[in-house]
Amino acid sequence: MSNCLIIGGGIIGMMSARRLTLEGASVTILDRRECGRESSWAGGGIISPLYPWQYDNLTNELSFASQAMYADLCAQLLEDTGVDPQYVKSGLLMMDEYDSTEAMAWMEKYSVSYQSHEQGALFSGIAQVRNPRLLQALKADIVAKGVRIIENIKVNRLVVGSNHALGVKTQNGNYYADNVLVCAGAWSSTILDLESKVFPMKGQMIVLKSKPNKVKHIVLDQGRYIIPRKDGSILVGSTMEDVGFDDSIDTDTKQSLFEFAYQHFPDLNNATIEHHWSGFRPASASGKVILAKHEKFENVFINTGHFRNGLNMAPESANRITQLIIN
Ligand SMILES: Cc1cc2nc3c(=O)[nH]c(=O)nc-3n(C[C@H](O)[C@H](O)[C@H](O)COP(=O)(O)OP(=O)(O)OC[C@H]3O[C@@H](n4cnc5c(N)ncnc54)[C@H](O)[C@@H]3O)c2cc1C
Repeated sequence: MSNCLIIGGGIIGMMSARRLTLEGASVTILDRRECGRESSWAGGGIISPLYPWQYDNLTNELSFASQAMYADLCAQLLEDTGVDPQYVKSGLLMMDEYDSTEAMAWMEKYSVSYQSHEQGALFSGIAQVRNPRLLQALKADIVAKGVRIIENIKVNRLVVGSNHALGVKTQNGNYYADNVLVCAGAWSSTILDLESKVFPMKGQMIVLKSKPNKVKHIVLDQGRYIIPRKDGSILVGSTMEDVGFDDSIDTDTKQSLFEFAYQHFPDLNNATIEHHWSGFRPASASGKVILAKHEKFENVFINTGHFRNGLNMAPESANRITQLIIN
């Protein structure tokens, strides 16, 4: 089996590395900083699109297939690494949109139902993971499986022959491989020309310190959400800001996320905001996930453009890109 160089060690790069290694490939990941510190760390860890009927068939297929794998995957990672990704089926209480014509048609198409709740619709099958822990477990697991990780190394561009890549050029020289897989999230188009350009869509979030079980389910209302973690921390997100790679955070947003939380749970009025951060979702110009062989270079593959759903879609995206590479 051939070797593969993966550019970018977020959830998509590391999950792809795991799958490729299980299929017998020899894999190296290059990351410009530490693996798992960008969008995949910044996200909320909801294992479902927020309003799934707003997405295309591919997103829905990747989501359903990944959702079916997540519980076993997290249990396996816990067993093999000792790090618990805290997969919890906390359910999602949706307060708006669930009764729209699009929502009804989607639920019929995919045989999804909800329980009526005094405040909306409870989708009890929806789970969450604690994404920073998932990334920690995944990294430990792939290293144990033989993946070579090289951090703090920026890939500048591909090194190409006529219709294929020889490898990549970094600030520390060239790396050569049989196959190159680009999983550089929001930065993917800075490395490679893509037909559908990938660009950053910033999101800000906060986390509140609270007590376990104050909030039972993930709550979604008007595009914003509240995610209760096992230990009582409560994440509140998120904004959608098309501002390039500006990672600044601002106090107005912090306040408005906090207000959103205590308007839904007045008790949280006294909670402390422990942290406030931003991340760059990898958005694509076409609005679609890019899971493909490059149109010009036969041994270059792309797995990116997961936008708001990369944590949710990672396992099946990794399976599909692996099939493309090994076939
Ligand atoms: C606020 C927020 C909330 C979110 N909530 C959820 C959620 O609840 N559920 C969900 O499913 N998704 C969520 N998402 C989306 C999800 O986080 C992303 O879709 C996913 O993390 C994308 O993963 P990735 O591996 O493609 O990108 P990233 O995690 O950004 O990884 C890309 C990696 O590439 C590296 N890289 C970039 N350029 C180079 C280079 N030139 N050379 C070498 N390495 C490079 C980076 O350092 C980085 O490690 C959220 C995102 C945000 C910002």
